[in-house]
Amino acid sequence: MLARGEGNTGLYASRPLAEWVGLSGDLWIKHEGENPTASFKDRGLCVAVSLARRADCRVLACASTGNTSSSLASYAALAGLPCVVFVPAGKISTGKLAQTLAYGARVLEVEGSFDEAMRLVEEAAEAFGLGLLNSVNPWRIEGQKSIALELLDELDWEAPDWIVLPSGNLGNISALGKALREAHAAGLIDRLPRIAGVQAAGAAPFARLVAARRENAAAELLPELAPETLATAIRIGKPRSWRKALREVEALDGEVLALPDEELLDAKAAIDAAGIGCEPASAAAVAGVRRLVAEGKIERGARVASILTGHLLKDPDLTARLHDGSLPGVPAPRPRARRRVASSLDALREALADLLGRAPPPPLR
Ligand SMILES: *Cc1c(COP(=O)(O)O)cnc(C)c1O
Repeated sequence: MLARGEGNTGLYASRPLAEWVGLSGDLWIKHEGENPTASFKDRGLCVAVSLARRADCRVLACASTGNTSSSLASYAALAGLPCVVFVPAGKISTGKLAQTLAYGARVLEVEGSFDEAMRLVEEAAEAFGLGLLNSVNPWRIEGQKSIALELLDELDWEAPDWIVLPSGNLGNISALGKALREAHAAGLIDRLPRIAGVQAAGAAPFARLVAARRENAAAELLPELAPETLATAIRIGKPRSWRKALREVEALDGEVLALPDEELLDAKAAIDAAGIGCEPASAAAVAGVRRLVAEGKIERGARVASILTGHLLKDPDLTARLHDGSLPGVPAPRPRARRRVASSLDALREALADLLGRAPPPPLR
């Protein structure tokens, strides 16, 4: 088994964030950005790459918006196997691309969105005998189940009322749902939590499907033609695991939301400022709780856990633009956050007054 110490990620009870989302009790934050390559993908890939090596796969492959590729590249290096990753050209953060290259992956930048990269890698896996490690690989799902089991263990097997997470290709919500149902069937928890998946409004085929099925139970997934969101990890128009995810959402009386980027980035700013921090897509987990509380679907006194899927440093460019106020339609969270200063005390006094919004305090004695 290839392992780098996956899991054992922090679980934080944040009062400021609970207040921000409108909960009277705690909001539990499970930070999956604290995995070895800084996203939850490590939990599934350590299992799947271990088994691919045992099955004598010679070249590993995946399509990715950047986190699966970073994680696969790391475990492939540990396994001593080459890997080829298919990413949407120009739609992967610099941090994730650098990380993927650093661990030694070969990178194919496919013209089009993640959906084209996914289709191409599936064809390539058939045609050339590549070991496909997307979450269509069942070992990924088995590994990712440990998020839910670890969370329940940390909560002394008292299931929360809700678990809320971002949703893109829908592997993770499938894994969490399966783990929760299995834990319930085994008598480890005495009731099932409800589950909510949160998509970006510009890439929300699954939210649309779940809404359509409330009218017509036979509705099927229609692909989003051109998925668009700043949260690149969930910029997916044709999620592969929608059937599994639908089964879990229906079994766990779930909700699926589609939130505009402004709400996701608002949540990101709140999570970052609480000292916890996450990448843009991850913030959907907390934005979703806030929306569900506002709509009265989550009660103010409910026990809620949200899953932050990736680390703050996964997308430094977007975070810097957010704070510079250079994202269209998104105001900077703090108007006075950075300033250039000449190297003199006089200039500094003025700059400090500007940054703090008041004169700097007198000398300490
Ligand atoms: C992969 C990923 C997601 C989406 O998870 P799915 O299993 O594809 O639904 C969300 N956030 C981050 C940071 C991710 O890396």
